[in-house]
Amino acid sequence: MPCQKSDELQRFVEEAKRYTKDGKVADYIPELGKANPGDLSIAINYPDGRCISAGDIDKKITLQSISKVISLALVLMERGYRYVFERVGMEPTGDPFNSIAKLETMPAKPLNPMINAGALVVTHMIKGDTVEDRFNRLLGFIRELADDSSIGYCENVARSEFESADLNRALCYFLKQHNIITEDVEPLLDLYTKQCAVEMNCLGLARIGMIFAMDGVDPLNGKRIMPDDVARICKTFMVTCGMYNASGEFAIKIGIPAKSGVSGGIMGAVPGKFGIGIFGPALDEKGNSVAGLKLLELLSKRYRLSMF
Ligand code: GLN
Repeated sequence: MPCQKSDELQRFVEEAKRYTKDGKVADYIPELGKANPGDLSIAINYPDGRCISAGDIDKKITLQSISKVISLALVLMERGYRYVFERVGMEPTGDPFNSIAKLETMPAKPLNPMINAGALVVTHMIKGDTVEDRFNRLLGFIRELADDSSIGYCENVARSEFESADLNRALCYFLKQHNIITEDVEPLLDLYTKQCAVEMNCLGLARIGMIFAMDGVDPLNGKRIMPDDVARICKTFMVTCGMYNASGEFAIKIGIPAKSGVSGGIMGAVPGKFGIGIFGPALDEKGNSVAGLKLLELLSKRYRLSMF
C-alpha cells in the first residue's frame, strides 16, 4: 500500500523544521557530516498496513543507535534473558551514549544495552562463525521486521565509522580486559559499524516501530517475529534509555517508547497503535534530532500519545 501524504503531518513538519537551525549534524563519523541539516521527514505506519507521511521520506538513514534495539531483540531470542543480562545491565546511566566513565566504577558490566559499551557487548553476543555470518543474521532479522528484502548497509558510512571509532575501540579493549568481550576487537568493530550503517527510509523505521508497538507480531499476516516478552523488554529500554541522557525529559514531554541515532533518525513505537519513523539530521547537544523531538512533542500533545 503506498504511503499517503498527510496535510496535518506536513503542518507539524513545517512547524518543527524551524528548530533544525538550533542543531548540528554529527560529524565525529565523517561521512554523517555530509547530511543536510535542514531535512525533516516523518512516516507513520498503522497495524492495518496504512501509512501516512510528510517530507522527503525517500531519503535513506543509517540506523546508528536505533540498531541497538534490534540487535538486543535478536540476542535475547538467540541467547535468552539470563545469558544476556549476565553481561549487560538494565539501568539508565545519565551519561552520554559514548561515555566510558561508569565502566570503571561498576563491576565492568555495562549498565544498559543502549549505551555504546552495552551495545558492543550485545553485538558481541550475535551468533555465527564469521562477521559476515553474524551480520547476515542481523540483516535478515531487520529485513523481516521492515518487511523489505532490499535493505542493506551503507559501505561508506560503515568504513568512515570503522576508521574513526577509536573511542568505541577503547570501550571494547576495556571490556575485553574484563572478559565481558572475549573476541578480537577489530572484527567486533567491523560487525558493529556495519550494524550501525544499515540503511532504510522513514517508512522502514515506522514499520519496525509498528512491530514493536504490536508486541512482535506482524498484524497483517499474524506472524510472530519476536516473542512478546522480547518486544516488551526492548520497549522498556526505549523508554528508560532510548534517548540517551535525555530519556527522562523525553518521557515527561512525549511519553512514548522511542530510540534515536546520531544520523538523526528516531524510531517510535506507540503501544498497540502505530510505529513512527523520523529523519532530521540536525542534532541537539545530547545527540537527538532537534526537530524530530519537536515533531514528536507536537504529535504527542495533539493525539495524547503519552503512555503515562
Ligand atoms: N555508531 C554510533 C557510535 O557508536 C552510534 C551512536 C549513536 O547513534 N548514538 O558512535
